[in-house]
Amino acid sequence: MATQTSQDVIDLRSDTVTTPTPGMRTAMARAEVGDDVYAEDPGCRGLEERVADLLGKEAALFTVTGTMANLLAVRSLVRPGEEVLCESRAHIARAELGAHAAIFGITTRTWSHPRGLLDLGAVQRLLAPKAGPYFVSTAGVSVENTHNFGGGSIQPLGPLRKLRDITRSAGVGVHLDGARLWNASVATGIPLGEYAALADVVSVCLSKGLGAPVGSLVAGTTDQIAEARVWRKRLGGGWRQAGVLAAAGSYALDHHVERLTEDHAHARALAETLADARPGLVDLAEVETNIVVLDLVHCGLAAEDVALQARAEGVLVSVLGPSTIRLVTHLDVDADACKRAGDVLARLLAE
Ligand SMILES: *Cc1c(COP(=O)(O)O)cnc(C)c1O
Repeated sequence: MATQTSQDVIDLRSDTVTTPTPGMRTAMARAEVGDDVYAEDPGCRGLEERVADLLGKEAALFTVTGTMANLLAVRSLVRPGEEVLCESRAHIARAELGAHAAIFGITTRTWSHPRGLLDLGAVQRLLAPKAGPYFVSTAGVSVENTHNFGGGSIQPLGPLRKLRDITRSAGVGVHLDGARLWNASVATGIPLGEYAALADVVSVCLSKGLGAPVGSLVAGTTDQIAEARVWRKRLGGGWRQAGVLAAAGSYALDHHVERLTEDHAHARALAETLADARPGLVDLAEVETNIVVLDLVHCGLAAEDVALQARAEGVLVSVLGPSTIRLVTHLDVDADACKRAGDVLARLLAE
């Protein structure tokens, strides 16, 4: 794709498109570094300890992507030939190119929820721990919070607590895909650690709303993380002076967490503009964080066509399906840019 660096382009495709701010670049340039494969990079170790603390876990490991963090996390719970249960549009099931199966021989079975939320009844029906010599044994349940393709939806605590009880008595582990756990925590005021305590292993991304160029972490027990470190190296993810990247992550934790409330406010304003322009396009009650999903079914427009028209006017959006468009607000789109994008889309989508 052509580079979209023009000031005029408003890129709402994803919160991964952010570029490092001048302050973040300065922090990266100043980073003290060492060889992280020898565990001698002070920035990496500092970041890992800090995130482990934030999540209330014994240890954490810095990884190049969220996909790698999720792979290592799920692998710490589920062995080859066993399964993990997740929602049908979970990132681990839909957006990691089958990595869990292709690399680790881990299969999935899924429940479906329109907003990606946990369905305890379905989990109880699917759960098959120690299933014997004929059926695949369930060794993990994975929950995504916030749920990306569910529209940035927040998993309520009540069902997560019940999941903790159900899985504990079944001897099954819980993975929290917390790529956007920061957004859930900022939106609800519930501390990260309270969510993380309801899972055995947690992954978080620095490269989404937090605006770091690269990086995720997986957090769990000391043993899990020691094993994850071995697997990370095996996967080719052992990096050397990665402290320049850890510095970006630490800077993001210092400066870019609280401000996620701005992204949430921008998403809400955008959603309100579009709901006014065309009833049925967006359900305001479902806009909880920085993601707005537009349902074009009722207006009879093709998502691809709308995306092309919007692009011609300098607004980039994601097409998630024939009649589904996703807008994601982030660090690089301010209130004014969101207002302009909202006006363009409202015009294209109005009756
Ligand atoms: C982005 C994302 C990830 C990780 O993606 P990478 O591109 O591999 O960093 C994991 N889970 C969810 C829910 C995501 O949105």
